[in-house]
Amino acid sequence: MLSDIEIANAAELRPIIQVAQDELGIDADHLVPYGHHKAKVDLGYVQSLHERPLGKLILMTAISPTPAGEGKTTTTVGLADALRGLGNKAMACLREPSMGPVFGMKGGAAGGGYSQVVPMTDINLHFTGDFAALAAANNLLAALIDNHIHHGNALGIDVRAVDWRRVVDLNDRALRDIVVGLGGTANGYPRENGFDIVVASELMAILCLTESWADLKQRIGDIVIGYTRDKKPVTARDLEAHGAMAVLLRDALAPNLVQTLEHTPVFVHGGPFANIAHGCNSVIATKAALRLADFVVTEAGFGADLGAEKFVDIKCRKSGLRPDAAVVVATVRALKFHGGVNMPDIAKEDLGAIERGMANIERHLRNVREVYGIPCVVALNRFPTDTDAEVARVVELVDELGVRAYPATHFADGGTGATDLAKGVLDLLDNAGESTFSFTYPDSLPLKDKAETIAHRLYGASVVTWDVKAKRRLERLEADGYGDLPVCIAKTQYSFSVDPALRGAPTGHDLHVREVRLAAGAGFVVLVCGDVMTMPGLPAKPAAAGIDLLDDGTIVGLS
Ligand code: ADP
Ligand code: MG
Repeated sequence: MLSDIEIANAAELRPIIQVAQDELGIDADHLVPYGHHKAKVDLGYVQSLHERPLGKLILMTAISPTPAGEGKTTTTVGLADALRGLGNKAMACLREPSMGPVFGMKGGAAGGGYSQVVPMTDINLHFTGDFAALAAANNLLAALIDNHIHHGNALGIDVRAVDWRRVVDLNDRALRDIVVGLGGTANGYPRENGFDIVVASELMAILCLTESWADLKQRIGDIVIGYTRDKKPVTARDLEAHGAMAVLLRDALAPNLVQTLEHTPVFVHGGPFANIAHGCNSVIATKAALRLADFVVTEAGFGADLGAEKFVDIKCRKSGLRPDAAVVVATVRALKFHGGVNMPDIAKEDLGAIERGMANIERHLRNVREVYGIPCVVALNRFPTDTDAEVARVVELVDELGVRAYPATHFADGGTGATDLAKGVLDLLDNAGESTFSFTYPDSLPLKDKAETIAHRLYGASVVTWDVKAKRRLERLEADGYGDLPVCIAKTQYSFSVDPALRGAPTGHDLHVREVRLAAGAGFVVLVCGDVMTMPGLPAKPAAAGIDLLDDGTIVGLS
């Protein structure tokens, strides 16, 4: 089989103006094209759709993955293509890839095989400039903070208690902790600062939760950048930064339209991390899609304990969105991994390991169906190494849990490989009955109890423990009036626990909260459990080494 980029480079794309017109009924007047194959949809037009009825929202989530990834993005594309292939008006909503992983370890994030979003190189590199706008707005605030301190610090900002960091959209571990303001009195006050990757910034989360330019400015104004010497929060509004920052983000708020290899329309818009942020594409894009299409497939990052939980408890809670169905992606190899097989042996047939690994998917399915109350099916994303016996056994075992599993070969075959899955989803939607959707916890619960509810109900943990500093910060946030916010748990995606080595469905473990961070503009409180990287490093052999520009201008080596 050809590589992802070979398939993408060979694809025949339709002009995006035609895709918008034919598939979604959007006139060219309402598009802001970036070349021929990507366009922003004018925000005024998007907002003019608000009275249209909503299509069905299908959430793509997954079991706890192996380090190789189990194919949520690929399956989102495959399912959208299959739904459209069956004659439906369908589209997908995905996150924008970050260039950090593109040049680092993971590669691109536009799907894989014959289920990809194109133009793949553009989407993975710069795209329509949203990340550049976010970096500029973020770093403008950083510059205004240091400038304010330099010119006398009228607000009394405690230079040791500034939380706002600078950002760049690359993996660069040397920038994690830095000192700014060196070089004498003309250069401001020396203080510790550091860089995060753009997707880890609060502004990215804000972009993805906001609904309008007014809301954007309000949220940016609410950002707490740090504290005064007498421990009062200092906001971006106090620094009069919010207007100029909103200006820089004005155009980034409009959703980006592209297409799959099979010309299904896709919004690729916003890309917050799934650990310290909520890991879903923008609310603006999801709502626009639901007004333009009858079926919208959207991905939430990581497994259903993290991405789907945040989709429900943060994105849906804030926006009023409600998923009609969920698809839980599973792979034979991930089930074997949870059954104790290590990556080097993952390709060997092992029915016993699959049986042991079922504990992981069983808990995810229970959480999705009984805690979030979303009807679901399982997509068994087939890899070339899966044996027929293994696939049949997974279908049988999932069936015993009262859920239908559909093997799908969209990676190798495109949309037709996911036709059974698409029919299964349509069937599920037809027979869903009254919605039983619900949040994991109410707004009014204290922050500490929210964490405990998630730990007990979803993770199988027996206790939540706190570092002394984390506990103190939590109490401070309750006292400052932030207790009604939802929590955003930042932990490993590889386990229900905070220990990536605890596979399957561990119970009785301790959810230890190391640090508490406030994202007042985005509207959540981050509970950092375990090591969470907001500025990844590059591996010994970075993907960048294999990426090249040929003499004729062709880009090669992206995966
Ligand atoms: P996720 O969104 O869950 O992180 P992706 O869809 O990005 O996962 O897939 C992770 C990686 O696995 C990608 O490189 C993708 O091309 C590859 N992949 C996904 N599905 C398959 C499959 N069925 N066979 C082979 N490779 C696959
Ligand atoms: Mg993905």
